[in-house]
Amino acid sequence: MSNGNSHPKTADIVIIGAGVMGASIAFHLARRQAGNIVVIDKDHVGHGASGRSSALIRMHYSFPPEVQLALVSLHMFQHWREVVGEPGDFRKTGFVRIVHPNESERLKLNVEMQRKLGVNVKLISRDELKEMEPDWAVDEVELAAYEPDSGYGDGAGVANDFLSRARDLGATYLPKTPATALRVESGRVRGVVTDHGEIAAPLVVAATGPWTRPLVARAGYDLPIENEYHQVAILKNAPGMKAGGCACIDSVTATYFRSDGQDKFLVGDFSGQRGVDPDNFPQRASDDLLEETIERASRRVPKLENAEVMRGVTGVYDLTPDSRPILGEIPGMDGLFVCAGFSGMGFKISPAIGLVMSELLLDGRGKTVDISAFRPSRFADGRLIKAEYEYKDD
Ligand SMILES: Cc1cc2nc3c(=O)[nH]c(=O)nc-3n(C[C@H](O)[C@H](O)[C@H](O)COP(=O)(O)OP(=O)(O)OC[C@H]3O[C@@H](n4cnc5c(N)ncnc54)[C@H](O)[C@@H]3O)c2cc1C
Repeated sequence: MSNGNSHPKTADIVIIGAGVMGASIAFHLARRQAGNIVVIDKDHVGHGASGRSSALIRMHYSFPPEVQLALVSLHMFQHWREVVGEPGDFRKTGFVRIVHPNESERLKLNVEMQRKLGVNVKLISRDELKEMEPDWAVDEVELAAYEPDSGYGDGAGVANDFLSRARDLGATYLPKTPATALRVESGRVRGVVTDHGEIAAPLVVAATGPWTRPLVARAGYDLPIENEYHQVAILKNAPGMKAGGCACIDSVTATYFRSDGQDKFLVGDFSGQRGVDPDNFPQRASDDLLEETIERASRRVPKLENAEVMRGVTGVYDLTPDSRPILGEIPGMDGLFVCAGFSGMGFKISPAIGLVMSELLLDGRGKTVDISAFRPSRFADGRLIKAEYEYKDD
């Protein structure tokens, strides 16, 4: 596969990156028989953030197009076998959003907006939450948002399923094939330079996560993506802990957590160290940092204090200034599209992102969801995304 002789010299569309995004785009393009599609990855499918993702699936966003993307994706996760032909890993556990007490009004307004868009979500009281999740300490919670249909999935599984279906439909996959440069001439992309030679193509998509900024900068456009290091703890359920409980994002403890199968629990953090190298970050989690995150999550789930840490997962987020993805064509470089900057939240919307990116490439715009607000030029234009009822930690 990685033998230089077998590498194609031309393609109709080259997708750089075989994470959940690149694989999803390839799948949706292949489904529409969009021609000769080549997916390249410098390592292999799911090697980036996708294979390390906590993979929470929730609809609770404050910016309506993100809610729509999450909803379209949820439908695909729920019908994975019909869509992709594989059983899938979606686990429906329910999801709870807890915000700072002074943001309860915003929570209400966001839930109202989400319900209008078709999300199955409702506000629940402290007592209802306590009844649903007896292990959680919720004394200070006035109101929470509850989504019964949400849960979690598996990043490596989704990337693999999309890619293998895309290949069944005729796409070519080249692992161990780094793109070293984008060939851009006279305001148009002409192809991709790889260390196995050049692939000429009129359409190129960079779905390269935290590696995107330097790649596109070499072609002459700066995308303000910063890389941020994150750690996640996988714990064994403490004795007597409820199995398979709800996933949660909790602004008060600045943690998110979910069950992991019937016997484990996953805890992650809101913030991390900026400026890490995605090719050289700690592969082993720091015990001290894990302890600190677990200690905070224990304020919400006290039984975690006695839970055994089984392992840590490390990974890198590709953060943008408004914490929203960058989707679209690079100004002045026709045919060069970016799909990156998911800011630690991309997994749950990846099925829909592949669909709307395929529409953008083939039809000139996202038809299923209007994604124009995510255009790359918004930073240079000073048009960052700000939701109407944004939370402080959105
Ligand atoms: C610890 C952690 C927890 C997370 N938890 C959640 C969560 O609970 N819910 C959620 O929705 N999201 C979550 N995310 C975010 C989500 O996982 C990412 O947004 C998503 O996986 C991004 O997918 P991607 O395809 O854009 O990037 P990646 O998976 O990083 O894929 C990019 C690919 O591009 C390849 N590549 C890069 N440069 C080149 C090049 N020059 N040439 C060829 N190939 C190249 C890489 O090898 C890589 O395979 C989490 C992320 C992390 C790290």
